Amino acid sequence: MSEVTRQVIYLIGFVAILIIRIYFARQVKVKQNKVVDGRVTVLEKVLLFLTVVGMFIVPLVDVFTPWFDFAAYELPHWTGWLGTIVLGLAIALFWRTHTDLGKNWSATLEVRENHTLVETGVYQYIRHPMYAAFWLWGIAQVLLLQNWICGVSYVLSFSSMYLVRVPQEEQMMLDTFGERYQQYANRTGRVIPQIFPQQ
Ligand code: SAH
Repeated sequence: MSEVTRQVIYLIGFVAILIIRIYFARQVKVKQNKVVDGRVTVLEKVLLFLTVVGMFIVPLVDVFTPWFDFAAYELPHWTGWLGTIVLGLAIALFWRTHTDLGKNWSATLEVRENHTLVETGVYQYIRHPMYAAFWLWGIAQVLLLQNWICGVSYVLSFSSMYLVRVPQEEQMMLDTFGERYQQYANRTGRVIPQIFPQQ
């Protein structure tokens, strides 16, 4: 698969993710109640900004300018197809998490009035399918763009966001839903399903 084909596939995926996010963010906004527990810190905002730059802006710079060409690497031909499959899975999972989470979705850490704990759909297997979709997106990017700067910026920005946010988010859910969330956490994995779930 040629470099241009891989880049075009990446851009199609990029637009798909953007459309899903904008579509659901609009739908959710209409239905959402007021925030009863917001835990957005300055660190969270800084990390969110770095994540947007590292995950989305840097790859676009790579696709549309020659600036990062010195950091290109070359993988075997078939990895382009593998990257396309992983990208498709990331998009499907991203879409599914939005339909499962419904009005409980939020770009930041917050609990709203009438917030419900979602334990169905893809959430019955893992607690953070949306973040799992972003990990898949990162793998697809490594395979499709084949550039060290893009790969490293993605892994660094998203992993710091993930490592800081997940424990805070789980604490917030535990404070809100108590024993029910604890039981849910016991039988699910964070981004990979548990093979032998505790009961
Ligand atoms: N971490 C989840 C959700 C990301 S959206 C995922 O990766 O799929 C972030 C918001 O979702 C948080 O502010 C929290 O309020 C909400 N949330 C996370 N898990 C939830 C669940 N199981 N049920 C309902 N809301 C949840």
